[in-house]
Amino acid sequence: IALNKAALDHLPGHVPGPGYERSAPARSIVHIGVGGFFRSHQALYLDDLLRLPGHAEWGYCGVGLLPIDAAMRDAMLAQDCLYTLVERSAQGDTARVVGALLEFLYAPDDPQAVLEKLADPGTRIVSLTITEGGYYVNQGDGSFDAGHPDIVHDLAHPHAPRCCFGYLAEALARRRERGLAPFTVMSCDNLQSNGDITRAMLLAFTQLRDPALSAWLAGHCAFPNSMVDRITPATTGEHRQLVRDQFGLIDAWPVMAEPFKSWVIEDHFPGGRPAWELVGAHMTDDVLPYEKMKLRLLNAGHQSLCYIGMLLGYEYAHEAMADADIRQLFASMMDIEVTPLLPAVDGIDLTDYKRTLIERFANPAIGDQLLRIGTDGSARMPKFVLPSVRDQLERGGPIALLSFTVACWFRYLSGSDDQGRPLTLIDPLSAQLRELALRGGANPGALLSLRELFGELSEAPRFVDAVADALARLYQDGARAALAHLLASVK
Ligand code: NAD
Repeated sequence: IALNKAALDHLPGHVPGPGYERSAPARSIVHIGVGGFFRSHQALYLDDLLRLPGHAEWGYCGVGLLPIDAAMRDAMLAQDCLYTLVERSAQGDTARVVGALLEFLYAPDDPQAVLEKLADPGTRIVSLTITEGGYYVNQGDGSFDAGHPDIVHDLAHPHAPRCCFGYLAEALARRRERGLAPFTVMSCDNLQSNGDITRAMLLAFTQLRDPALSAWLAGHCAFPNSMVDRITPATTGEHRQLVRDQFGLIDAWPVMAEPFKSWVIEDHFPGGRPAWELVGAHMTDDVLPYEKMKLRLLNAGHQSLCYIGMLLGYEYAHEAMADADIRQLFASMMDIEVTPLLPAVDGIDLTDYKRTLIERFANPAIGDQLLRIGTDGSARMPKFVLPSVRDQLERGGPIALLSFTVACWFRYLSGSDDQGRPLTLIDPLSAQLRELALRGGANPGALLSLRELFGELSEAPRFVDAVADALARLYQDGARAALAHLLASVK
């Protein structure tokens, strides 16, 4: 059956539906960036909560800002914003229909509708999964990229914005004029101190737009940090077929995820929040240690296996993890170069955490694409891998494994592997990166000179030498031999 509101009364027995009233809620969370991850993670926590009695006042309104979101709009509107979540493990697949998303607004069609929804007194929280690249941060020094064409556009057209900060600023200006409190802005992207970064970038933007608005936000608007975790591959045609065959539902955009999920949230929501702690989220005063652990182990771990994995001809994370050398690279990188940098984290045993990561990455049921993990390397490498390089350089510690990951990325950026098979690059800077990778070849100088990505590391001799050495081996001896050489050297 086609998934929509009417189908909820006839769902197959093994697919639970929401089971709660999906009417207009008194308090809304507007979520910008309705992709796979929001739908497998945040929306699921609220869906769990809404299944408990007494929490019906909350619901999500999804917003798509980019032209590519038109496809999600079409899918969601045709199915009354319902979708199937399939959890996949070695034990099999389980599905449920998620109902926490109640509305979807596509900004390019009607920017004013989005601005008014954001400015509505019922909107208490605006959450974001707009990818690491969506924050307009200069990677080299962490400053705001005020010269970006989107930002220049939104400063020139404050009432008809196109980027996230333009929408937030205009909506918050309307709230201020109307005597309303600001909403709380909650980033759920994989950035360390994601709330602090969102705050810094939005204040930098509003400072250029209207310093009084900026001062009001600095005094009144909350930006809680959060750490999010759940591996969610991009949805494919095979996934749609699986939902149809195994669960009897025609769903234009189901979402697949691993069984594991985790969410740690800084408890700072002046306008109120759902009782997420009742459904497994961990509310805390300080997210930083959790974030640091996750970004430096899980996300950097993903970087450590995706580029070498693609260079060796693999398509999925579990295939790369089944390669003993890649698995060892990942495990040794965590143990030797990252773990010594991490503070003790309350309630977490790092050895267990790392073992779970190895199991999660190796889960064959999830089918996580290396290309997805390797997307936007220009935003991810500086956030997940380079901070550990910096910390190790400061203490004179080892960096060979982290540097190898950077070198594999550079080799991958050339656009083909050792056999000459083409490699797909997805990155806002892909044209520039590819050109520099081809120009530099085995010499990493051209890519390392991108100070907006590498900052002072562009000229840190130990790092430059380590990347140059690894890249030379990757080009001369091939990916397999370069990896074997590295592993022999760190044993
Ligand atoms: P996705 O490709 O399914 O969706 C991305 C969404 O972000 C789309 O709605 C897109 O329009 C929007 N977006 C992208 N760039 C934007 C911009 N500049 N401004 C506004 N919106 C923008 O990706 P996803 O799997 O949902 O992942 C999104 C983010 O979630 C990741 O970048 C990461 O920070 C976080 N995350 C993902 C996972 C995962 O396993 N997929 C796990 C943890 C965290």
